[in-house]
Amino acid sequence: MKSDITIIGAGILGTSLGYFLSHITSRKILVLDQAPQVGFHTSSRNTGKVHAPFLYDPEKKRIFAKSAKVGFEMWETYSKQKNLPFKKDGVLEVALDEQGIKRLEKYMSWGEQNGLQKDDIILLDGADVKKQEPEVSCQKAIFCKKDASVDYHILTNHIMEDAKQSGATFLLGTRAESIQDKKDFLEIKTNHDTIQTNFLINAAGGMSIDLAHQMNVRPDLTDIHFRGEYWQAEPEYQNLTKTSVYSVPKHPEYPFLDPHWIVRSDGRCEVGPNAVPVFSPYGYTISENIKEMPSKILEMLSSGASKILFDSQFLSLASGEILSSISKTVMINRVREFLPRVDPKKFKKRGTAGIRASVIDKDGKFVPDAIITPGEKSLHILNYNSPGATGALPFAVYIISQMEKKGLVKIEKDKCGPWSFETISEILES
Ligand SMILES: Cc1cc2nc3c(=O)[nH]c(=O)nc-3n(C[C@H](O)[C@H](O)[C@H](O)COP(=O)(O)OP(=O)(O)OC[C@H]3O[C@@H](n4cnc5c(N)ncnc54)[C@H](O)[C@@H]3O)c2cc1C
Repeated sequence: MKSDITIIGAGILGTSLGYFLSHITSRKILVLDQAPQVGFHTSSRNTGKVHAPFLYDPEKKRIFAKSAKVGFEMWETYSKQKNLPFKKDGVLEVALDEQGIKRLEKYMSWGEQNGLQKDDIILLDGADVKKQEPEVSCQKAIFCKKDASVDYHILTNHIMEDAKQSGATFLLGTRAESIQDKKDFLEIKTNHDTIQTNFLINAAGGMSIDLAHQMNVRPDLTDIHFRGEYWQAEPEYQNLTKTSVYSVPKHPEYPFLDPHWIVRSDGRCEVGPNAVPVFSPYGYTISENIKEMPSKILEMLSSGASKILFDSQFLSLASGEILSSISKTVMINRVREFLPRVDPKKFKKRGTAGIRASVIDKDGKFVPDAIITPGEKSLHILNYNSPGATGALPFAVYIISQMEKKGLVKIEKDKCGPWSFETISEILES
């Protein structure tokens, strides 16, 4: 099998890349995924929010912030066109102490810098919050209107169908096992076939660092996987709040968030996610983690991640997360700090957990933004984390316009479904 561009990973990012590349070029585009469906892993196992960009530092998370801003409008347009759920229900970000209030003030300024309008985002005191959401207790909160609930599994499937219609080929159940540079092309050996491709895009999510290392790209980086778990609330809680309620993260330098109160697009309520360190991007079960533990520990000890293993604050926060994984009461009690009426007994079923891979540099620090690294005949997208689903469409445009600047792809057509490629890329570059 031959292709001009092969994308490894049909999560929401790889599928969006397939969508735009197949619309704007006449090249042969192949998207492959080891899973039986597109968006099978993190892209379907998340909170389902289209996040407003007030949470993202416009300097340290520049690409994520820009993509979130543009992503909101793009998903809204696309959902309307396809008649898919896009519930503009907003979000409350609550502060419970002075430190949290300072963070909210920072978020207000980031929101403005990231392009939110004055009436999209307001700072409320505790009494105003009570009027809006009588069950919520806090000192202050941001209410952001521009936050929505969707189902990213459904959206990824629709994007795939459109990409197929414009000529992309999706090979599902196909795992890239080895990649060799054959001088004129790359040879990808999969569990089924051998693929010859002129160019490869690594959009393999939790496996992207491993794939990059296989091709001698960014050996200085490694990653740690965190499983975000959820508990489903009984139906009687469905009208407890109108919106989802997030609390300000106490340690934003680490990938540990406090679990949120989530209202999903279909009205179901959940508590989550926590962030439990695990040994594999697919470490949903104990057996998968035991299998991957020895090699992951060896990898961590021989990289910057070894420094994390001796960081006492990281270890203390991680043990709190492990405790919240073992004890439902510990997890639900974290939400009771701002939603006192929730009772752990009313949560009988776990929700669907999803796993993120956070990249660590050689100094043992978590890298805040996505990393785009070129290799020989390849491009690697690493650390593509939250709000990655929100920003997947514009981020894909951004990647392709970077490729165009380097002469790796030629844009032949501008129209992509309801969008103009050039207009989106200009907004992202501005
Ligand atoms: C708990 C949690 C909650 C989140 N909530 C939100 C949210 O509310 N809003 C938001 O915007 N973002 C959220 N995110 C982030 C968002 O879900 C991710 O950023 C996004 O899904 C990443 O998409 P992806 O395509 O890069 O990765 P993935 O969806 O992981 O896709 C990568 C694909 O690569 C495939 N693959 C890997 N290796 C190979 C190989 N060798 N051969 C073939 N295929 C391979 C995998 O099978 C996988 O399907 C959340 C993340 C987590 C973990």
